[in-house]
Formats: sequence, C-alpha cells, structure tokens
Amino acid sequence: MKKPTAKVLVNLSLDRCFDYLVPEHLAGKVKVGMKVTVPFGKSNSLREAYVVALGSIGEEEAGKYKDIFEICKNFPALSDNMVLLAEWMADYYCCAREVAVRALLPGAVRSGKVREKTKKVYFLPDTAKALAYMKENPRAKGKNAVLQSLLQRSGTDKEYILFDAKVSPGVLEELVKLSLVSFEEIVVEREFSHARGIVRSAPRQPTEEQAKALKVIYEKMDGQNPEGPHTVLLHGVTASGKTEVYLQAIAHAAEQGKEAIVLVPEISLTPQTVERFRSRFGDMVSVLHSGLTDLERYEEWMKVHSGKVKIAVGARSALFAPFRNLGLIVVDEEHDSSYKQSEAPRYNARDVAVLRGKLENCTVILGSATPSLESYKNALDGKYTLCEMKKRTDEHIVLPEVKIIDMRLETDDEGKRPVFSKFLIEAVEKRIAMGEQSILFFNLRGYARKLVCTACGEYKAECPECSVAYTYHKRAGVLRCPRCGATVLAPEKCPLCGSGELKYTGVGTEKIENISFDVFKGARIARMDSDAMTTPRKYEEVLSSFRRGETDILVGTQMIAKGLHFPNVTLVGLVNADIGLNMPDFRAFERGFQLITQVAGRAGRGEVPGEVLVQTTLPFNPAVCCAANHDFQGFYKEEIQIREELQYPPFGHLMTVHFDGEDPSRVMEEALALMEKVLPFKDASTIYEEPASAHFERIKGKYRFMAVFRAGNLAPLRRALRKEIFTGAYKRKGVDIYVDVDALSLL
Ligand code: ADP
Ligand code: ZN
Ligand code: ZN
Repeated sequence: MKKPTAKVLVNLSLDRCFDYLVPEHLAGKVKVGMKVTVPFGKSNSLREAYVVALGSIGEEEAGKYKDIFEICKNFPALSDNMVLLAEWMADYYCCAREVAVRALLPGAVRSGKVREKTKKVYFLPDTAKALAYMKENPRAKGKNAVLQSLLQRSGTDKEYILFDAKVSPGVLEELVKLSLVSFEEIVVEREFSHARGIVRSAPRQPTEEQAKALKVIYEKMDGQNPEGPHTVLLHGVTASGKTEVYLQAIAHAAEQGKEAIVLVPEISLTPQTVERFRSRFGDMVSVLHSGLTDLERYEEWMKVHSGKVKIAVGARSALFAPFRNLGLIVVDEEHDSSYKQSEAPRYNARDVAVLRGKLENCTVILGSATPSLESYKNALDGKYTLCEMKKRTDEHIVLPEVKIIDMRLETDDEGKRPVFSKFLIEAVEKRIAMGEQSILFFNLRGYARKLVCTACGEYKAECPECSVAYTYHKRAGVLRCPRCGATVLAPEKCPLCGSGELKYTGVGTEKIENISFDVFKGARIARMDSDAMTTPRKYEEVLSSFRRGETDILVGTQMIAKGLHFPNVTLVGLVNADIGLNMPDFRAFERGFQLITQVAGRAGRGEVPGEVLVQTTLPFNPAVCCAANHDFQGFYKEEIQIREELQYPPFGHLMTVHFDGEDPSRVMEEALALMEKVLPFKDASTIYEEPASAHFERIKGKYRFMAVFRAGNLAPLRRALRKEIFTGAYKRKGVDIYVDVDALSLL
C-alpha cells in the first residue's frame, strides 16, 4: 500500500521542500497551491507551508514522516501554472523558492489577516413593539420619527436615519437602550465610486496601422498559428494609438470569455490612464496600484480570484493576478526599468510576462515607442512578432520637431554656461505670449547637488553612511541623501570653521523652478517631482490646473515624462540631456535615447505642431541625434554593434553577485570564498569580473562589492550559486549576499 504525501515549502527562506504525509481526514483534499500548516523542526511547532507537489510513498517508509496538520482556510489556492511560475522564478532569478511564491501574493492575502471595514446597520427587532411604543408616546416626536424611518427602510445606516428623521445621534442611542432598535455590524462592500460618472467610450475605427497590428494579434489569440511566437512587440511612435490597440485586443479576449492583464509602469498609472480602461470596460476592471490599503489590495485580489473582474490593470506585481483563463497580457512601455524589482525575487515583469503567457497559452503584447534592445533583438531574431506603427493616429498631428541646442556655445554675462539657452528662453516666452504651454524637464530633484564651504575649503556636506554628497532642498531647508534618503537640517554655518560662506552648486528641479520665476517674470509656474508631490491629491491638483491652462510652465522630473496627454503643450525643453548620458553604465545611451523620445512625445499632441529643445554638450551623441530624428532603427543599429563588440546584453545575459557588509575585508573574504566554490561551474565562454568595489561603494553604512558574469548560458552557475547561498555550510556573518540576474545596470 502506498501512502499519499505532499511536498511543501515552509515559509522560512530555506529554499528546500519537505515531504509530509496526507492524513486520512485530509485525503483527497490537499491540492497543489494550497496553504497548510505542518509541525516543523525538533519542537514540532506549527508553521505555514505551501503545497508544491503531491506524491506517495511505501507504507514501510511512512513512519519517517510527519502528518500535515491542517489546510489553512480562507486561502485561495494558487493555480498549477502559478506554482510552476514561482518554481521557474526561483531557478532563473536565483532566489529561495518561498521568496518566489511570496511574490505571487499580496501580503494581506498571504497572511489572511485583513482588518475588514464594517459599518453598523439599524433595524427594528420587533415591529409590533415599535408600533405600540409610537401609539403610547405620541409626544416623543424624535423617537417616533426614527422608528417611522426604520419601519419604511429597515437595515439602514446611522447617517441615513439621522438625515431622514432629522434627529441627533442621542435619540437613536436611547432607542437602542430601550431595545426598540437593534444594530448589526456588517462588512462594507467597497464602493466602486471611481467607476461611476465615467463616460463610456466606444472602440474607434482602427487606423490602417492599428488594423494591421490587430490582425496579427487576433491571429495569435485565435490560435491560428500555434507554431509561431506567442509574443508581439508593438513598436509604435508616441500617440500612434498603441493604447487603443490594447483596448481592442482586450475586448477580443473578453468576447472569447477570457481574461486580460495590463501592466504599466507605476509612474504612468495615472488617473488618466486608468480612466481609459474604465471607460471602455467599466466594472470589469480591477486597478492594482501601490496606493491601495491592505484591505483594498485583498479585495481586488479576491475579485480577480472569484472571477468578478476580467481585467487587471496595474504595475509590476499585477502580473500575478490570479486569473485562470488568461487570453492576453499587455506590457506597456516594456522597456521601462520599473518592471525590474530591486529586491528578491529580482524579476523583470516584462520577461516573466512572456513566460506566464507561454505557460497559460495566452498572447503577450509588449508595447513601446522605444523598445528595449533585448526585445527588439528578439523580434528581429523571430522570437517575437514585430508590429510597427510609424504614424500618429491623427494625420494632422505630426511628430514634433526636435532641435538640438549645443550648450558649449552658450555663455551668460559672466562667461559661464547658463541653465537656459537664449533660444529656449525665447521659445518659452513666445508660448506664454500665445497662450500655449511649456514643459521644462530636468531629471534631478532638489535645489542644489552639492554644498561646500568656500572659506575653509574642507567642508563638503556628505551622507556619512553612503559617502555621497547630500542634495539641498531649499524650501524644506534640508539636506537629503540621494542613495539612502537620510534627511538632516541644512547647516547655516560651516560645521568645521564656522564661516557662513556656504556655497551651493549643481542644479535640481527646485532650482530650475526658481530660475524660471526669475527669467519668465509673471509666468504661472508649477513644479512636479516627488518632493513637491507629497500626496496623490497634490499631484491631481497640479495636473488638473495645468490641463485647465492655469499654468504656463510645468517644471518636473521623469514623473512628467510618461503617459500624460496635454493637447495645449507645444514646447518641451529638456534642460540637460547630458545627465543620463554621462552615467558610467552600459545602458546610459539607451536610457538617454528613451528619455529624449518620451519627453519629446509630450509635445504637440493637439492641433498646433510641437517643438522640442534638447540642451546638451554632446550634440553628436548617437542617442541625441537619433532621438532628434525620431530614428529608432538608426539608434538600434549603432548601439547593438557596441553591445556585440563588448558582449553586453542583449548578447548573452548579465548577472551580478553582490556582497554587502560593514567590514570591507570580511566582505571581500566571503566574496572570494563563494567565488571559489562556484567558478568551476562557469563555461569557457563566460566573461567573469572578480569581486570589486561597486560604483556606489557604500550605502547605509555597508560596503558594497560586486562580481559580474556575462554569458549566453548562466544556468549551471546560477544553480550552483543558489545552492551555495541558501544551503552553503560556511558562515557568512555580517555579509549579505544576493544575485541579480539580468541586472539592468552595473552601478
Ligand atoms: P499611444 O498609446 O501610442 O501613445 P494612444 O492610444 O494614447 O497612443 O492614442 C493617441 C491619441 O489618438 C489618443 O487621444 C487616442 O484617443 C487617439 N486614437 C487612438 N486610436 C485612434 C483611432 N483609431 N482613431 C482616432 N483616434 C484614435
Ligand atoms: Zn568651512
Ligand atoms: Zn545615505
């Protein structure tokens, strides 16, 4: 006789599975994806665990195993595909299995602990008694009014009763004391207030390019070419109507009775974007964003799980929405770096989306105006199907003209390089005069980048934990560390020599705003960056007043680079394109190209053609020139050559192994010890860079070291690392070790 067993993952970062017997009373009930409790360790304390596989063993062996204790209630089991997906993520991204499983579930769903929002509803426990009271006490007008109200509408809340009977809360309380009225606490069904008052939008007649793309997508969704790739790369210039393509493809999935997931970068999960999905699909849409409370997140997840909604729109983690009959996954702005999670599991939602699509046998659309080199190469290599949309939907609305302004030729009265070129100043003034709007884009926050003492020349304001210069935020009067976020009061005098001759250098958005007030006298100027946008309401306020035309100039960081649609913006100035291009990182040009293109895409979305000014000291940089010419292919050709020569992604994979700790020599010792163990697993073609100090040498007091591997196939090495890191015998006191597979940068 065989006995049924279950393989479970215990919630403890051990990266190991354990076998348990399925006791008789649970026979047939334990399924893959369920959460159970099991006695664990010597103390047999109960722990939560996920079932990842079922099996059986011979009776003679059964004595060695413990029984599963019970199945956790209120936990919706993961589908087999999700369990497989987690397994794949653990293997590919080199993390513990439990950590991968955890990524699939919002915290509140995992713990099952949510505080439910309740409200009291009032009713009459005994109608006859109430009527008798009314008859006997005709002068108790207030009380009678309440009873009358409840006679007509039993089960209403306090607000309604008080409003209806026009009495004070005390009257209701007295009635409760007299047992004439009772109440019950009920769980509040969340109101879909956001779905109300939205004008339904009908699908638009597709343009020729949209129709072509949709044909390809429908063919895949209808399974007409099962051998072909299941992923479409939709490369469309800004405002070419990509979102409309997504909407129609989702409708196609819905017609087939299937579900859809739409991923957008968190930063572009604006009310404007969400409204487009809601206005087409109403309550069928669940929106998952970072602003949700635990309870809301739990509820949204349950709505997906129970089939109440068919479409999930959200940032990275929405990829794991527990649909069981997926027809489509859309990844908008697929190149966006926010799809990569910075803590374990360090997954890229774009890549996992492609994998989930494969597992669930559903179509995946990756959309972008500036595809990542990885995705574009995959498309050229035939792994994805390429669809291109080169025109904006409205033929009158041409792509904006991009002018490069060579800042090396600009000097101010003192012979220094100014922040704004003469050309940019004139262009903005012209827009103000014509009642049009401008956006000035600058990718660094704060007022000044550095604070030094000119008297002693010794003092530099630096974060002691990270050894980098503090950023100065003038309005708040504070210094902030750009790495760890630590904030201190800005000094009035030099802490070393006591002099007041403190000098602030380097520009941030706050300074740009200040300079704008000086230069554009009388203009209405607003700033939008994460310092100014302390609440979502503030964000909406600034945006709506800009939309209403009450602001002439909007100054901001990348927060304003994406997704926003303002028809009256006819000028966009990129104040300093060099910031990103000068980063010592292999993706610096790619990011620069993407940034200029995105920013430029904000201009001229209405009737008046737009103009874009790019201020740079690198006017011949391919990222700048190609972006100015709206030439993605040109940029791709230049950049892909460099990547191939240097063997950087998309040629092969890039994996970094990080070692962080307070004592640099200990960290190095550990790093070398681990490398010695895993190096035998790398193949001859692997490029290996030994552990060395990382570009950002210290963060939060910890020294950072990093080893780098680049190769076509890193699987054996990854597996060796995972084994060593999670089950390695040697002690690693005080050193954090983690692996970043397909790392986005080397900084
Ligand atoms: P993208 O996502 O590529 O930036 P959008 O989908 O936002 O482009 O489309 C840009 C604008 O064109 C939007 O205002 C949208 O409503 C409009 N639009 C999209 N498709 C069509 C169409 N087929 N006919 C007319 N207008 C369209
Ligand atoms: Zn000093
Ligand atoms: Zn710091």
